[in-house]
Amino acid sequence: MSKVIEIQRLNKSFGTHEVLKDINITVDKGEVVSIIGSSGSGKSTLLRCVNLLEKPSGGAIIYKGENILDDKHDVYAYRTKLGMVFQQFNLFNNHDVLNNCVVGQVKVLKRSKEEAEKIAMEYLKVVGMDQFINARPNQLSGGQKQRVAIARALSMEPDVMLFDEPTSALDPEMVGEVLKVMKELADSGLTMMVVTHEMDFARDVSDRVIFMDKGVIAEEGTPEQIFNTPTQERTKEFLKRVL
Ligand code: ADP
Ligand code: MG
Repeated sequence: MSKVIEIQRLNKSFGTHEVLKDINITVDKGEVVSIIGSSGSGKSTLLRCVNLLEKPSGGAIIYKGENILDDKHDVYAYRTKLGMVFQQFNLFNNHDVLNNCVVGQVKVLKRSKEEAEKIAMEYLKVVGMDQFINARPNQLSGGQKQRVAIARALSMEPDVMLFDEPTSALDPEMVGEVLKVMKELADSGLTMMVVTHEMDFARDVSDRVIFMDKGVIAEEGTPEQIFNTPTQERTKEFLKRVL
Protein backbone atom coordinates (compact mmCIF):
# COMPACT_ATOMS: atom_id res chain seq x y z
CA MET A 1 0.00 0.00 0.00
CA SER A 2 1.31 3.48 -0.72
CA LYS A 3 1.73 6.06 1.99
CA VAL A 4 -0.02 9.36 1.45
CA ILE A 5 1.17 11.15 4.54
CA GLU A 6 3.64 10.28 7.24
CA ILE A 7 3.68 12.26 10.47
CA GLN A 8 6.92 11.72 12.39
CA ARG A 9 7.64 12.77 15.99
CA LEU A 10 5.37 15.75 15.59
CA ASN A 11 5.44 18.23 18.46
CA LYS A 12 3.45 21.37 19.09
CA SER A 13 3.62 23.76 22.01
CA PHE A 14 1.74 26.96 22.69
CA GLY A 15 4.20 28.85 24.89
CA THR A 16 5.23 26.35 27.54
CA HIS A 17 2.12 24.22 27.03
CA GLU A 18 3.04 21.05 25.14
CA VAL A 19 -0.12 20.17 23.24
CA LEU A 20 1.26 17.44 20.95
CA LYS A 21 4.08 15.14 22.02
CA ASP A 22 5.90 12.89 19.58
CA ILE A 23 2.96 12.01 17.37
CA ASN A 24 3.66 9.34 14.74
CA ILE A 25 0.97 8.47 12.21
CA THR A 26 1.19 6.98 8.74
CA VAL A 27 -1.85 7.23 6.52
CA ASP A 28 -2.04 4.92 3.51
CA LYS A 29 -3.89 5.64 0.30
CA GLY A 30 -7.57 4.84 0.67
CA GLU A 31 -7.34 4.50 4.43
CA VAL A 32 -9.85 6.01 6.84
CA VAL A 33 -8.26 6.94 10.17
CA SER A 34 -10.51 8.10 13.00
CA ILE A 35 -9.06 10.13 15.85
CA ILE A 36 -10.97 10.01 19.11
CA GLY A 37 -10.30 11.38 22.58
CA SER A 38 -11.48 13.82 25.21
CA SER A 39 -11.86 17.51 24.58
CA GLY A 40 -8.50 19.23 24.91
CA SER A 41 -6.45 16.15 24.03
CA GLY A 42 -4.97 17.85 20.93
CA LYS A 43 -7.05 16.39 18.10
CA SER A 44 -7.83 19.70 16.36
CA THR A 45 -4.28 20.93 16.83
CA LEU A 46 -3.04 17.75 15.17
CA LEU A 47 -5.21 18.27 12.08
CA ARG A 48 -4.31 21.97 12.00
CA CYS A 49 -0.61 21.05 12.09
CA VAL A 50 -1.09 18.53 9.28
CA ASN A 51 -2.52 21.20 6.99
CA LEU A 52 -0.21 23.89 8.39
CA LEU A 53 -2.91 26.12 9.83
CA GLU A 54 -0.62 25.79 12.86
CA LYS A 55 3.16 25.67 12.62
CA PRO A 56 4.45 22.48 14.27
CA SER A 57 7.19 23.03 16.86
CA GLY A 58 9.12 19.95 15.76
CA GLY A 59 9.06 16.72 13.82
CA ALA A 60 8.39 16.00 10.17
CA ILE A 61 5.43 15.63 7.85
CA ILE A 62 6.41 13.54 4.84
CA TYR A 63 4.32 13.96 1.72
CA LYS A 64 5.40 12.40 -1.57
CA GLY A 65 8.79 11.61 -0.06
CA GLU A 66 9.54 15.16 1.09
CA ASN A 67 9.36 16.79 4.49
CA ILE A 68 6.95 19.65 3.98
CA LEU A 69 8.27 21.31 7.15
CA ASP A 70 11.60 21.94 5.42
CA ASP A 71 11.97 25.67 4.88
CA LYS A 72 12.43 25.35 1.16
CA HIS A 73 9.35 23.23 0.59
CA ASP A 74 6.44 24.61 -1.44
CA VAL A 75 3.87 24.75 1.33
CA TYR A 76 1.28 26.34 -0.93
CA ALA A 77 1.20 23.42 -3.39
CA TYR A 78 1.02 20.95 -0.49
CA ARG A 79 -1.98 22.68 1.07
CA THR A 80 -4.02 22.43 -2.13
CA LYS A 81 -3.67 18.65 -1.79
CA LEU A 82 -5.50 18.59 1.55
CA GLY A 83 -9.23 19.14 1.91
CA MET A 84 -10.46 20.36 5.27
CA VAL A 85 -13.97 20.25 6.71
CA PHE A 86 -14.57 22.10 9.96
CA GLN A 87 -17.21 21.88 12.65
CA GLN A 88 -18.47 25.36 11.73
CA PHE A 89 -18.78 24.86 7.91
CA ASN A 90 -16.93 28.12 7.09
CA LEU A 91 -18.89 28.65 3.87
CA PHE A 92 -18.76 31.99 2.02
CA ASN A 93 -22.15 33.48 2.95
CA ASN A 94 -22.08 36.02 0.12
CA HIS A 95 -21.77 33.28 -2.52
CA ASP A 96 -24.37 30.76 -3.63
CA VAL A 97 -23.82 27.04 -3.25
CA LEU A 98 -22.30 26.56 -6.70
CA ASN A 99 -19.94 29.49 -6.33
CA ASN A 100 -18.81 28.24 -2.94
CA CYS A 101 -17.51 25.18 -4.77
CA VAL A 102 -16.07 27.17 -7.69
CA VAL A 103 -14.07 30.10 -6.28
CA GLY A 104 -11.23 28.02 -4.81
CA GLN A 105 -10.84 26.03 -8.01
CA VAL A 106 -10.60 29.20 -10.11
CA LYS A 107 -8.41 31.19 -7.72
CA VAL A 108 -6.08 28.51 -6.44
CA LEU A 109 -6.07 25.82 -9.14
CA LYS A 110 -6.48 28.29 -12.03
CA ARG A 111 -9.27 26.25 -13.57
CA SER A 112 -11.63 27.98 -15.99
CA LYS A 113 -15.01 28.93 -14.55
CA GLU A 114 -16.68 26.49 -16.92
CA GLU A 115 -14.50 23.56 -15.92
CA ALA A 116 -14.78 24.47 -12.23
CA GLU A 117 -18.58 24.52 -12.46
CA LYS A 118 -18.62 21.12 -14.10
CA ILE A 119 -16.42 19.65 -11.37
CA ALA A 120 -18.43 21.40 -8.63
CA MET A 121 -21.67 19.94 -10.01
CA GLU A 122 -20.14 16.48 -9.96
CA TYR A 123 -19.31 16.74 -6.26
CA LEU A 124 -22.54 18.52 -5.34
CA LYS A 125 -24.28 15.45 -6.79
CA VAL A 126 -22.10 13.17 -4.67
CA VAL A 127 -23.31 14.93 -1.50
CA GLY A 128 -26.89 15.25 -2.77
CA MET A 129 -26.87 19.07 -2.98
CA ASP A 130 -27.06 19.57 -6.76
CA GLN A 131 -30.66 20.77 -6.46
CA PHE A 132 -29.52 23.73 -4.34
CA ILE A 133 -26.89 25.39 -6.52
CA ASN A 134 -28.54 28.83 -6.42
CA ALA A 135 -29.24 28.86 -2.69
CA ARG A 136 -27.25 30.98 -0.25
CA PRO A 137 -25.74 29.24 2.78
CA ASN A 138 -28.12 31.05 5.14
CA GLN A 139 -31.07 29.39 3.37
CA LEU A 140 -29.74 25.92 4.17
CA SER A 141 -29.98 23.67 7.21
CA GLY A 142 -26.81 22.78 9.11
CA GLY A 143 -26.66 19.34 7.51
CA GLN A 144 -27.03 20.83 4.04
CA LYS A 145 -24.34 23.43 4.77
CA GLN A 146 -21.93 20.75 5.89
CA ARG A 147 -22.62 18.70 2.76
CA VAL A 148 -21.82 21.78 0.64
CA ALA A 149 -18.63 22.29 2.66
CA ILE A 150 -17.68 18.68 1.87
CA ALA A 151 -18.44 19.20 -1.85
CA ARG A 152 -16.36 22.37 -1.82
CA ALA A 153 -13.38 20.54 -0.37
CA LEU A 154 -13.82 17.63 -2.80
CA SER A 155 -13.97 20.02 -5.76
CA MET A 156 -10.29 20.76 -5.15
CA GLU A 157 -9.68 17.02 -5.71
CA PRO A 158 -7.40 16.62 -2.69
CA ASP A 159 -5.29 13.55 -1.91
CA VAL A 160 -6.51 13.51 1.70
CA MET A 161 -9.61 14.87 3.38
CA LEU A 162 -9.33 16.08 6.97
CA PHE A 163 -12.53 16.30 8.98
CA ASP A 164 -12.62 18.03 12.37
CA GLU A 165 -15.80 17.00 14.17
CA PRO A 166 -17.95 17.63 11.09
CA THR A 167 -21.18 16.72 12.88
CA SER A 168 -20.62 18.33 16.28
CA ALA A 169 -22.39 21.61 15.46
CA LEU A 170 -25.42 19.91 13.93
CA ASP A 171 -28.87 19.33 15.34
CA PRO A 172 -29.18 15.60 16.11
CA GLU A 173 -31.60 14.94 13.24
CA MET A 174 -29.01 16.17 10.73
CA VAL A 175 -26.04 14.15 11.88
CA GLY A 176 -27.11 11.07 9.90
CA GLU A 177 -27.18 12.70 6.47
CA VAL A 178 -23.60 13.97 6.89
CA LEU A 179 -22.30 10.66 8.24
CA LYS A 180 -23.97 8.87 5.33
CA VAL A 181 -22.08 11.05 2.83
CA MET A 182 -18.83 10.47 4.73
CA LYS A 183 -19.40 6.72 4.71
CA GLU A 184 -20.00 6.80 0.94
CA LEU A 185 -16.75 8.74 0.48
CA ALA A 186 -14.90 6.21 2.62
CA ASP A 187 -16.37 3.34 0.59
CA SER A 188 -15.33 5.06 -2.63
CA GLY A 189 -11.68 4.85 -1.56
CA LEU A 190 -11.04 8.42 -0.42
CA THR A 191 -8.19 8.84 2.06
CA MET A 192 -9.59 10.41 5.22
CA MET A 193 -8.49 11.55 8.68
CA VAL A 194 -11.56 12.11 10.81
CA VAL A 195 -11.69 13.63 14.28
CA THR A 196 -15.02 12.50 15.63
CA HIS A 197 -17.19 11.97 18.67
CA GLU A 198 -19.39 9.61 16.65
CA MET A 199 -18.23 6.28 18.00
CA ASP A 200 -20.47 4.29 15.65
CA PHE A 201 -18.77 5.99 12.70
CA ALA A 202 -15.30 5.33 14.13
CA ARG A 203 -16.19 1.69 14.73
CA ASP A 204 -18.07 0.94 11.52
CA VAL A 205 -16.33 3.06 8.89
CA SER A 206 -12.69 3.47 9.83
CA ASP A 207 -9.82 1.14 9.05
CA ARG A 208 -7.88 2.38 12.07
CA VAL A 209 -8.71 4.24 15.26
CA ILE A 210 -6.29 6.48 17.13
CA PHE A 211 -7.10 7.34 20.73
CA MET A 212 -5.46 10.57 21.89
CA ASP A 213 -5.03 11.58 25.50
CA LYS A 214 -3.23 14.70 26.75
CA GLY A 215 -1.28 15.24 23.55
CA VAL A 216 -0.07 11.68 22.97
CA ILE A 217 -1.38 8.70 21.05
CA ALA A 218 -2.38 6.55 23.99
CA GLU A 219 -3.60 3.64 21.88
CA GLU A 220 -4.05 2.79 18.24
CA GLY A 221 -5.51 -0.18 16.42
CA THR A 222 -8.31 -1.57 14.33
CA PRO A 223 -11.82 -0.60 15.43
CA GLU A 224 -12.25 -4.12 16.84
CA GLN A 225 -9.09 -3.79 18.96
CA ILE A 226 -9.90 -0.33 20.28
CA PHE A 227 -13.58 -0.86 20.98
CA ASN A 228 -13.64 -4.53 21.96
CA THR A 229 -10.24 -5.20 23.52
CA PRO A 230 -8.59 -1.91 24.52
CA THR A 231 -5.37 -2.52 26.44
CA GLN A 232 -4.80 0.89 28.04
CA GLU A 233 -6.62 1.95 31.20
CA ARG A 234 -7.26 5.46 29.84
CA THR A 235 -8.79 4.05 26.65
CA LYS A 236 -11.13 1.92 28.73
CA GLU A 237 -12.10 4.89 30.90
CA PHE A 238 -12.76 7.10 27.87
CA LEU A 239 -14.89 4.47 26.16
CA LYS A 240 -16.86 3.86 29.34
CA ARG A 241 -17.74 7.55 29.39
CA VAL A 242 -18.75 7.90 25.72
CA LEU A 243 -20.37 4.57 24.82
P1 ADP B 1 -9.24 18.92 21.00
O1 ADP B 1 -9.49 19.23 19.56
O2 ADP B 1 -8.82 17.49 21.23
O3 ADP B 1 -10.40 19.28 21.88
P2 ADP B 1 -7.34 21.07 20.85
O4 ADP B 1 -6.32 20.63 19.85
O5 ADP B 1 -8.35 22.03 20.40
O6 ADP B 1 -8.00 19.79 21.50
O7 ADP B 1 -6.59 21.70 22.08
C1 ADP B 1 -5.54 21.04 22.77
C2 ADP B 1 -4.95 21.99 23.79
O8 ADP B 1 -4.27 23.04 23.12
C3 ADP B 1 -5.97 22.64 24.69
O9 ADP B 1 -5.43 22.71 25.99
C4 ADP B 1 -6.12 24.02 24.10
O10 ADP B 1 -6.48 24.95 25.07
C5 ADP B 1 -4.74 24.28 23.57
N1 ADP B 1 -4.75 25.22 22.41
C6 ADP B 1 -5.32 24.96 21.21
N2 ADP B 1 -5.14 25.98 20.36
C7 ADP B 1 -4.43 26.94 21.04
C8 ADP B 1 -3.93 28.22 20.72
N3 ADP B 1 -4.09 28.76 19.52
N4 ADP B 1 -3.25 28.89 21.70
C9 ADP B 1 -3.05 28.33 22.91
N5 ADP B 1 -3.50 27.13 23.28
C10 ADP B 1 -4.19 26.42 22.37
MG1 MG C 1 -11.19 19.90 18.60
